[in-house]
Amino acid sequence: MKHIGLTGGIGSGKSTLAGMLAGMGVPVLDLDALGRELHHDADCRAALLAAFGPGILDASGAVDRAELGRMCFADAEKTATLNNIMHPRIWQRERLWIDQQQAAYVLIEASVLIESGGASRMDAVVVVLADIAIRRLRVMQQRGLDAARFEAILARQCNDAARRDIADFIVENNAGMEELQACATNLHKQLLALCLG
Ligand code: ATP
Repeated sequence: MKHIGLTGGIGSGKSTLAGMLAGMGVPVLDLDALGRELHHDADCRAALLAAFGPGILDASGAVDRAELGRMCFADAEKTATLNNIMHPRIWQRERLWIDQQQAAYVLIEASVLIESGGASRMDAVVVVLADIAIRRLRVMQQRGLDAARFEAILARQCNDAARRDIADFIVENNAGMEELQACATNLHKQLLALCLG
């Protein structure tokens, strides 16, 4: 079973493409969602608490992701500490999930697959690309994100040149949903061919 990574910048359409492939029966794991789930895991919460102190908890005692993000933003040492806590736990869960799947290939979606070094765990990497202006418009109109937040996330991610360098398959998502669906169908065929080859 091949492990296919799926990445792209904010608002590029990763989750939309992943949803289309899931609709064709492909098992999909969203590592961003897995990371968010892990904040509720007792062992992970304890490690975060030990490293960053009680300031990262909200009034209910849960990990406040926004606060954690603020603390680590623009602080390379804190970001490294956070990654050292999160990444091994994410990889462990990823392995457990992969072991449970039965398919020609599984899709592992992550916004920072390249930045985290995760691409090296994959047999192939799919990159979704879209113009920044289109991505900004989509996330602002359809997800209600403000422009400043979009720019802040954009600045933390690698650029499309780095993504192109690592991509085995590129999906351009500057047109509409129908065009993306056609790309998804074509990509699925290519990935199945890769599995057979
Ligand atoms: P993030 O990294 O922020 O999670 P993402 O790469 O997963 O983003 P999506 O959530 O799939 O991106 O897409 C961003 C927004 O753009 C969504 O609201 C989605 O419905 C919309 N979108 C994606 N592709 C298209 C398209 N081809 N035409 C119109 N809207 C689209």
